[in-house]
Amino acid sequence: MIVANQIDKFYPNGCHALKTVSATIQRGEVVVVIGPSGSGKSTFLRTLNQLETISSGSITVDGTDMYAKGTDINKLREEVGMVFQSFNLFPHMSVLENVMLAPLKVSKRNKREVEEHAKALLYKVGLESRMNNYPSQLSGGQMQRVAIARALAMKPNIMLFDEPTSALDPEMVGEVLDVMKSLAKDGMTMVVVTHEMGFAKEVADRVLFMEDGELLVEDTPADFFERP
Ligand code: ADP
Ligand code: ADP
Repeated sequence: MIVANQIDKFYPNGCHALKTVSATIQRGEVVVVIGPSGSGKSTFLRTLNQLETISSGSITVDGTDMYAKGTDINKLREEVGMVFQSFNLFPHMSVLENVMLAPLKVSKRNKREVEEHAKALLYKVGLESRMNNYPSQLSGGQMQRVAIARALAMKPNIMLFDEPTSALDPEMVGEVLDVMKSLAKDGMTMVVVTHEMGFAKEVADRVLFMEDGELLVEDTPADFFERP
């Protein structure tokens, strides 16, 4: 569904963050991206929904070239959910309001429907009892689960996770990974940048290993983690 073909990325300061990276993400697949800090993992992820532009190469989504003239980037972005290391919830809005905000902005959707869907998603991430709380009343793990529900509220075809557990206290990592595992089980297409090797071993269909802007290895977790 997403094909990155020989993409290169230079930042304005000249940093060559991606070097001829090619990768395909199939529908329903969970792809985990690992590698040292600064190797380009986050940049790669961000090019998949055009938070970063690419300098050369191409990215197609279901056959549509992201960079072709006339491509509706907003529509493509709606189909891609993103979860960051920092949760970025609006502090003055309740949990439920945070989850409803983005789909309400899409004018076609009716409020009642958006609300029912948001509640179902909060149930799914185990936070239905917290829907009227404000973010400041939640733990980090709970806030990240709200952020996942918020991304799902747009009914994305694919979910991108950029180190979703790196900012959490260790005891909260599990609850977020559990939500991600359940999404994977439901067949969600996912690309996950993480240092959680247990998650990669258990959940990934494929592991991409990056180093210094290059995609060095692409393998099944079984082969990747048994490599001597
Ligand atoms: P990772 O996610 O693997 O830690 P990044 O994709 O964040 O790696 O960074 C890859 C390289 O690009 C690093 O050398 C980083 O310093 C550089 N970089 C990231 N973002 C920017 C930016 N906005 N401007 C310039 N250089 C950047
Ligand atoms: P991450 O790996 O999660 O992207 P970083 O600390 O690498 O975290 O980057 C944090 C922010 O700083 C990002 O928005 C990134 O684009 C930006 N950034 C990273 N490296 C550079 C750099 N060398 N010059 C300018 N901006 C950078």
